Amino acid sequence: MNKPDLIEGETASAKSLGELNGQAQHCKRCDLYKHATQTVFGEGPEQADVVLVGEQPGDREDVVGRPFVGPAGAILNASLIMAGIDRDRCYITNTVKHFKSTQRGKRRLHSKPNAGEIQRCSWWLRSELKLIEPKIIVALGGTAAAHLRGKTFGLPRTAA
Ligand code: SF4
Repeated sequence: MNKPDLIEGETASAKSLGELNGQAQHCKRCDLYKHATQTVFGEGPEQADVVLVGEQPGDREDVVGRPFVGPAGAILNASLIMAGIDRDRCYITNTVKHFKSTQRGKRRLHSKPNAGEIQRCSWWLRSELKLIEPKIIVALGGTAAAHLRGKTFGLPRTAA
């Protein structure tokens, strides 16, 4: 795929992932920041060949501030080991950077981000991909796959 296809649309002016992460910590592009603990930005090397993209942080990730450290992270880790892929060499992120949840008693249940929230947050994912320029992007789940295959990124249908 051509690199320009990865970054179709506006991106942040940050020169590094660290700077981009710092900007994202103050993001108010949609309302999800109001009910989450913190922005959960992507992590991994800026030179990563492989970028893994999930839907959004879960309850555990929201508290810890890192992607894929909860139950979904355990499944991902096991899958990567089975596939012979070193997690530390991948960049792992989410389509949406704040945890969206519904309160049920003392529990916070996962709530799917809507199209508007995904669209607004795609600013950050586009910016991450612009800096990393990965060879491979892997969508972890339907939300990421649908988004990456959509017009925002202009990816070919075989990419997700
Ligand atoms: S979900 Fe994304 S766009 Fe919305 S406030 Fe959080 S970082 Fe910003």
